Amino acid sequence: PSQTQLGLMSHDELTAEHERQSENYRRLKTEKLTLDLTRGKPSPEQLDLSNRLLDLPGADDFRDANGTDCRNYGGLTGLPELRAIFGELLGIPVDNLLAANNASLEIMHDLLVYSVLFGNVDSDQPWSAKPVKFLCPSPGYDRHFAITEALGFEMIAVPMGPEGPDVHAIEELAKDPQVKGLWAVPNYSNPTGAVYSEAVTRALVTMPTAAADFRIFWDNAYAVHPIVEQAAPIHDVLGWAAEAGNPNRPFVFASTSKITFAGAGVSFFGSSTANLKWYQGHAAQKSIGPDKVNQLRHVRFFGNADGVRAHMAKHRELIAPKFALVLQILEDRLGASKVASWTEPKGGYFISLDVLEGTAARVIGLAKDAGIALTAAGSAFPYGKDPEDQNIRIAPTFPSTDDLGKAMDGVATCVLLAASEKLLAE
Ligand code: PMP
Repeated sequence: PSQTQLGLMSHDELTAEHERQSENYRRLKTEKLTLDLTRGKPSPEQLDLSNRLLDLPGADDFRDANGTDCRNYGGLTGLPELRAIFGELLGIPVDNLLAANNASLEIMHDLLVYSVLFGNVDSDQPWSAKPVKFLCPSPGYDRHFAITEALGFEMIAVPMGPEGPDVHAIEELAKDPQVKGLWAVPNYSNPTGAVYSEAVTRALVTMPTAAADFRIFWDNAYAVHPIVEQAAPIHDVLGWAAEAGNPNRPFVFASTSKITFAGAGVSFFGSSTANLKWYQGHAAQKSIGPDKVNQLRHVRFFGNADGVRAHMAKHRELIAPKFALVLQILEDRLGASKVASWTEPKGGYFISLDVLEGTAARVIGLAKDAGIALTAAGSAFPYGKDPEDQNIRIAPTFPSTDDLGKAMDGVATCVLLAASEKLLAE
């Protein structure tokens, strides 16, 4: 390990450090690794926790509590029992929460497409009538930014802090009537693990916006995903928005993608009565109803909200040691050198690593050549452009502990090599 701050080293010390890390890197390459830290996927062991779903609802079990035959068409709102379970967890009244198919991302995409084509309940014209701008707390979730980029919106990066995005910057930007919305991952955000504070949340739902049809895409993908005993609070974003006189501002999302099966879970959409009516009016043109059998299977699997909490405790047991391992390796290998900093999330799926400015792309390239796949440089920023070229998103959940340790140790070598290279060149 490097015991000294790289930035304080003499030229000779730096040359020696560079030689050391080059040697470490040569050795790393001889290991011929093929490791992947790119996507936030559950590991096979996590997926196994939900294998009972594969046998549910079971022969002759196809009616929900109302007697609805789940095998048949219909039921755009989703099964009431499942909405009640997740309504309790998310703090949303059942009537304001829909249960849908496997991907919450699809609902976010649809909401934006409907807004572009038709406008929302507070629009006086479709969003397509004028150029749309959208606020993107960064670093953030690449797939959010991909949707707003594909629709041709101008994305404006807003700095992200430990308690949410810079509210003052957002308040200023929202004075522009072309600014129509904001991406938000309030609990254990992707990728920094930030948890929005009550003050930030209240400010976002209260602030004046020039656009009456401004929407917050409140994506609570990791609402019930702490890796510590005590979960962060889930703020009553819909209630607070209504109190502030902006009942239609938040669109709330969640899903069981990181609870049961990432590719075969259930998604949820919560919002005001007016927004849900508007959404369903358009959604009814694309589907006669969601996969209710899958929803019933999830009702049987969880039983109630405590069933979800107990299930998440099992995920935590599998995931928490992986986060701890990554943090330990970062501290052991990079702590003293002061060429990197990283977040220490209390939940979610990611750790955000900031390396020496101007070296993230180089680190990712070095890692790739050593068989360690990292998320592409800049991917947590709008248009894939990290202005400082310093951010790397680490996804610890999927690899085995053994692979994760090897991969992170390799990443640390690449960080030190790239940093000593850069400092030597200065
Ligand atoms: N939102 C966030 C913040 C995510 O990190 C992810 C998964 N990586 C998703 C949404 C995807 O959710 P779904 O599977 O429900 O589309």
